[in-house]
Amino acid sequence: MGLTKLSDYYRPKKLTEAIRLLKENDGYFPIGGGTWLIPYGGPEVRGIVDLSEAGIREIRLEETLMYIGASTTLNDLLTAPETSSHPYGFIRETINSEGSTRLIDSVSTVGGKIALGRGDSSFLAGLAAIDATIILFGKMSEDIKLWDYLNDSELRNENHIISGIEISTPENIHSVIFESISYIRSSPPLISLALYLTLSGNLIESVRIVFSSIEEKLVRLEEAETMLLGKELNDELIKKVSALAAKTIEPSYDPKGSAEYKKAMAGLLIERSLIKINSNRGVS
Ligand SMILES: Cc1cc2nc3c(=O)[nH]c(=O)nc-3n(C[C@H](O)[C@H](O)[C@H](O)COP(=O)(O)OP(=O)(O)OC[C@H]3O[C@@H](n4cnc5c(N)ncnc54)[C@H](O)[C@@H]3O)c2cc1C
Repeated sequence: MGLTKLSDYYRPKKLTEAIRLLKENDGYFPIGGGTWLIPYGGPEVRGIVDLSEAGIREIRLEETLMYIGASTTLNDLLTAPETSSHPYGFIRETINSEGSTRLIDSVSTVGGKIALGRGDSSFLAGLAAIDATIILFGKMSEDIKLWDYLNDSELRNENHIISGIEISTPENIHSVIFESISYIRSSPPLISLALYLTLSGNLIESVRIVFSSIEEKLVRLEEAETMLLGKELNDELIKKVSALAAKTIEPSYDPKGSAEYKKAMAGLLIERSLIKINSNRGVS
């Protein structure tokens, strides 16, 4: 493999120019930090359209949402004051949990991360749990939920540029919980869980459960979500959902841990997160 056919390189100042280059030239690819495309791209890559100066490196906090431009690096997110505390602290927590080096974090971008859509990304799991919206440039006014984008292989194979993402401000203190298990604190997780949950009174109003490091793609536990919706979060329900998680997931081969171990850990992570939500609310 290797970029044996690469001959052209552009660094446009505008997204309109970037999308024109991509649409008019077969074998042209957008590039964020290049941490994946440069080592793993092959002879299909004839040209690179570098998005680093296209004006999409930005973190903006608006009244009820956060906008993150696609050329924002992971290190930008780790150091931005906007992600230092609740409700956006989960962004730092999930990036840190991936155990990447500072060097990789300082160049790899949000756009590259999303376009790759790897199932071992805690960061993507967090964004999917909170139901982030992807803004696509060059597709007429198409904004799409991250979860739908990750599961739409046709769209992902088309020429497109992710220009940014929007995250609606989580509604309450219990909303985003992240848990992961690693052998060593700074190493990539064996399994991670991002759980988003809001309550109306004592009843669960909305919930999304997304695991990473189980399969090639992220895994969402919709059956468990349905089991939780509209219910009061008590010990019996927590045990049921935890057992369902352990039963439902089907981990791919991973030399770091057996499928049986991961199944047990999936149940444990769900149980731990839901107990944490109750203890945050003062319910023991
Ligand atoms: C040693 C090592 C370890 C890694 N570990 C992990 C890991 O644990 N988890 C993980 O998720 N990844 C991992 N990666 C993969 C990758 O480096 C990261 O996911 C990184 O964040 C990709 O970002 P990038 O900006 O460097 O992407 P690039 O390499 O620039 O691009 C990646 C892909 O996305 C496309 N792309 C880039 N930007 C856009 C855009 N704005 N719109 C549309 N398409 C775009 C490119 O065409 C390319 O196909 C690892 C890589 C290495 C080398």
